[in-house]
Amino acid sequence: MTPGDRYARLLVSGARETPLLRVPRELTEMELQAHWFAGDFGREFRTVDGRAARVVQFGVWNREAGPDFAEAAVSLDGGAPARGSIELDPEARDWERHGHAENPDYENVVLHVFTRAGTSEFFTRTVQHRHVPQVLLDVASLTSEPPNPQPAAIPGRCCAPLRALPEEQAREVLLGAAQFRLRKKAAALATLTELHGADEALYQALAATLGYKSNKLPFTLLAQRLPLKLLRKGDADALLFGVSGFLPATDLAAFDADTRSYVRGLWERWWPRRAEFERLAIAPAFWRMAGQRPANHPQRRLAALAGIIRHWPKIRALRDRCAPAEVHEFFAQLRDEYWDHHYTVSSRPAAKRMALVGASRVTEMLANVFFPLAIAADPTRWTGFKTLRAPLANQRVEVAALRLFADSPRAGEFLKFAALQQGLLQVYEDFCLRDASDCEQCPFPRQLAGW
Ligand code: SF4
Repeated sequence: MTPGDRYARLLVSGARETPLLRVPRELTEMELQAHWFAGDFGREFRTVDGRAARVVQFGVWNREAGPDFAEAAVSLDGGAPARGSIELDPEARDWERHGHAENPDYENVVLHVFTRAGTSEFFTRTVQHRHVPQVLLDVASLTSEPPNPQPAAIPGRCCAPLRALPEEQAREVLLGAAQFRLRKKAAALATLTELHGADEALYQALAATLGYKSNKLPFTLLAQRLPLKLLRKGDADALLFGVSGFLPATDLAAFDADTRSYVRGLWERWWPRRAEFERLAIAPAFWRMAGQRPANHPQRRLAALAGIIRHWPKIRALRDRCAPAEVHEFFAQLRDEYWDHHYTVSSRPAAKRMALVGASRVTEMLANVFFPLAIAADPTRWTGFKTLRAPLANQRVEVAALRLFADSPRAGEFLKFAALQQGLLQVYEDFCLRDASDCEQCPFPRQLAGW
């Protein structure tokens, strides 16, 4: 049995006798749509009137007026797929509230998906009185509000039993959690691949990693709305900056010569395509700028995404080989004349050259994308991941290390490895975030005794 299997068993046997009340987190419509398109709700459903529905094709984000997703296909009860659009609403009656029942643009909808049925029965009908199959999504299956969203940065009750374990065993617990985590990531990537193809899946996953935690949603939306296939035809940077809403519309005369020339170049290519892509634009409210290091500004990450697209055959080769040194080397060499010296599209030039993607972000890509894919294809690649050294990735990992190991020298040693950082994060999410008893009722310390 692998350490990952043992961790999975520990999770099952450690389930609380009285499950905590699952409170679905309120998702915004945009989050809901992003999860839907990523296949996070699956592709097999039961319609409200009891038929089996399979989404054969998730289609594309619709650029024109009308339903959310175009060019989709849905099969009912195993029948021939009906081709058309899919509309996704928070509540069933939004169909009527938003006037879709009277709008001929919605005539070709083949599936109406929502997360709340409302208090009374509602039938989705088109302007020609066609009955549209309905699917009610279970949001709680996807995400629930953690009882303890911000565990305190103090040592927890599991410190003592972890200290009592021989170092090799404590390491193995974390490696088990890391292996379990990588399998989950690999499964999500496999779903993305099944739905959108291997290249689009890789591109969407890398984009999400570039979004960091705070801008993961807008980066995911951008990659879903502007598929790799489209961007590889040209003007990737102009479309990414245009749809993200990052192109300054102010008088360019206020900027230095480099910025004027850079922004003008983007505008000239974005302008003719603006009307076509306007509906897909990311609203400014979705971007989170507060608390970011200047070098990690989302605009710089967007430039990095454009660079990834420019070198796509190389990225594919990096995925196939998954050699950490080569991945680091590629990103260290990823240059951009403008972004090497700018924090944003309107900032003054910085004297020192900045890497578009720093070493810690590259490690995140290795841990979240390259290794999960490589290990899923060849489990022996786990050995390489186990020994991958990594800079400290984020504050969550630090808090997790403090809660589990207090000031033990083991913490410092474990934090040097990407796999052990991932293991710490998994325990933190599976136990610390789900504990509302100040550690008292957390099953993890008891579980450790049986490891
Ligand atoms: S909640 Fe559980 S896993 Fe987290 S610190 Fe407390 S005892 Fe340890």
